[in-house]
Amino acid sequence: MSIKKIYNNIKSLINFIFFPTKCIGCDEVSKEYICNKCKKELEKNFCPKIVESYHSELSCISCFVYQNKVKEIIHNFKFKNHRNASLILSNFLTIAIEKKFKNQKFDSITFVPCYYPDEKYNHSEILAEKISENLEIPIKKHLKKIRENKKQHRLSFSERQENVKGVYQCVEGNLQNKNILICDDIITTGATLSECAKELEKSGAKVFCSTVAYTILKTLE
Ligand SMILES: [Zn+2]
Repeated sequence: MSIKKIYNNIKSLINFIFFPTKCIGCDEVSKEYICNKCKKELEKNFCPKIVESYHSELSCISCFVYQNKVKEIIHNFKFKNHRNASLILSNFLTIAIEKKFKNQKFDSITFVPCYYPDEKYNHSEILAEKISENLEIPIKKHLKKIRENKKQHRLSFSERQENVKGVYQCVEGNLQNKNILICDDIITTGATLSECAKELEKSGAKVFCSTVAYTILKTLE
């Protein structure tokens, strides 16, 4: 073994002891960013489904019920800076999109613009970037947020729709004959995605939606 190799091995060992990789699902020390146990649990719960919006005609392909392990991982992804979570979540979402939209060609993939100013990064954009790489479809920022609003998860069903009204604007004026896929983490009532889709449709696009997880609505009522 060369001195350089020995040095690198010692360096990795020291890194592992002092800065061990922890699983994004259970916080246990793990060789990978997600341990086998958590990965298997996700595989077991992966069940792509078409979810209807509570507010509009919009339907959306979604991979998991928002509960248990996936809920924990999405929470860590959004609020604890575990950006690696986007790798595994986007892989599941890619499989679901390929299955559901087998014969559908997309001109671009887009995301919900940054939710709130206190967020360090836009999780919707990170997911969309990975999906774009996986499917080899360009990612485009088609929407921008034109005013601030309250956080959706604290509001009732009817308040949610009102809260997102007029919040987004299409960046380009003309999207005639463009098929656009929006990616996001969770669909709850569908208010945000419906509003984004409406803006894109105003510019002539045909819109498709996909999320990692969906909330079972009756649990909210
Ligand atoms: Zn784990």
